[in-house]
Amino acid sequence: MNNKARLLIVDDEPKNIHLLSNVFADDYHISVAISGEQALGLLDKPNDIELILLDVMMPQMDGHAVFAKLRENPATAHIPVVFVTARTDTDSEILGLKAGAVDYIHKPIHVGIARIRVQQQLELARQRTHLQQLLRERTLEQKRLNNIIEGTRSGTWEWEVASDRLFINHHFALMLGYGPQDLAFFTMAHWKSMLHPDDVALCTQTLADHLRDATQPHSMTVRVRHKEGHWVWVQSRGSRMMDDTSQAVRVFGTQTDITALVQARLADEANRAKTEFLSRMSHELRTPLNAILGFGQLMSMGGELSTVQADHLTEITNAGRHLLGLVNEVLDLSQIEAGRMRVHMQGVTLRPLVLKSTHLLEPLAKAGKVSLLIDITPDLVVHADPKRLEQVLVNLVSNAIKYNHEDGWVKVMARRDPNDQVRISVVDNGRGITTADQALIFKAFERGSAENTGVQGSGLGLSLTKKFLELMQGEIGFESTPKQGSTFWFTLGHGPSASAKHER
Ligand code: ADP
Repeated sequence: MNNKARLLIVDDEPKNIHLLSNVFADDYHISVAISGEQALGLLDKPNDIELILLDVMMPQMDGHAVFAKLRENPATAHIPVVFVTARTDTDSEILGLKAGAVDYIHKPIHVGIARIRVQQQLELARQRTHLQQLLRERTLEQKRLNNIIEGTRSGTWEWEVASDRLFINHHFALMLGYGPQDLAFFTMAHWKSMLHPDDVALCTQTLADHLRDATQPHSMTVRVRHKEGHWVWVQSRGSRMMDDTSQAVRVFGTQTDITALVQARLADEANRAKTEFLSRMSHELRTPLNAILGFGQLMSMGGELSTVQADHLTEITNAGRHLLGLVNEVLDLSQIEAGRMRVHMQGVTLRPLVLKSTHLLEPLAKAGKVSLLIDITPDLVVHADPKRLEQVLVNLVSNAIKYNHEDGWVKVMARRDPNDQVRISVVDNGRGITTADQALIFKAFERGSAENTGVQGSGLGLSLTKKFLELMQGEIGFESTPKQGSTFWFTLGHGPSASAKHER
């Protein structure tokens, strides 16, 4: 047998050694020592001895003295010791048992009893070793789980249903602004008193349902009062543990602070609601505005107005047009933010589109005494949505005119670069943009120092332009020197040929 245990027989009498060896030789490996000192010497070296048969009556060092030494040494303290002694020696037997000896074999030796005793003690020792091993593994596992929980910084809780006690870890307490000791005697009732009044019923119901029938762990999101008074959103998950009678005795779980997440979601919802509102309002405003402009035009054509009335009408229609432009921009922006804006990409020949856009702006340029120059070869084709590209061009060129001065100029240029991108630049020698304003220029409703100049605008043009270009997979940038002028540039993919069309 490979897993035969090794016994150490310690006896000063050769005939006893002989006898014991005979009894155990078949079932065990045997080592022998003829004195206590020799036994200790042997056990001091690496060995595989699993049980010691120790004679009590030995000269110099008796069995008890050897036993005491063995127990002192951590390397040998765990080895079971069976004393071998005369039946009459009961006092010494009591002494030995008290000191922790595991059993006795009496002389004259009864072979059957001796075998059983040794066998039982070995079995017990092996079970003890096994249990110790299990305990070590469990302790390690426990530590590992604790480390994982620590790492997640999650709160943990355990509800003892019968007593209503809640046992929580320090992360749980910390999440609510408490120290670990503050909530040492914590109950479910106490916990519910900390919940937002609107969430108490949810908590009660979720736990009751879970106790009644828990095929799955439960999960709930509730608000809990922080020590400082504000609400903390927590996600609580738990699972019940049944006893032998299938009654739930404990429910245990984790708790995570999701306040930041909930706030982000609420902000997102609010933003979506705002976008939705803007979108609806813009639609609603467009119809009456178009009516105002239409009737204004009709009135101006009638020729029956006095000069003052005609001037007022011009004011009305100008303001109406400005308002309609603003409404359209808000509508576009809200469509983009809601992800509802689609671009219809196709090959667009650039020059005619630039000419069309700048043509629309000629009155503005004329009024400002700004000259417009176009430098684009007729064959250049970009990959774009023509309607959105026109809006981009109108925005950039109108800015270049608006933020200019008398006798200023605006130049629109384009060239194809080696990576098959077309770079379109709108250059002006206008007032330029201060460094402070440059940082905010693409933000919606930001007008920088233009706010106080009397130049009409909404601060939406550039932010929309940037968004349109992103939808068309383009980029935008600018360089500007105050009092000298600005260059706004954007890129678009080259081609495909002007006839090809596809939708994104
Ligand atoms: P708006 O022109 O309606 O105010 P934009 O979003 O088009 O809004 O532009 C934002 C701001 O950037 C303008 O208010 C102006 O201060 C500045 N800006 C834009 N283009 C130019 C330019 N070419 N030269 C100087 N300033 C400019």
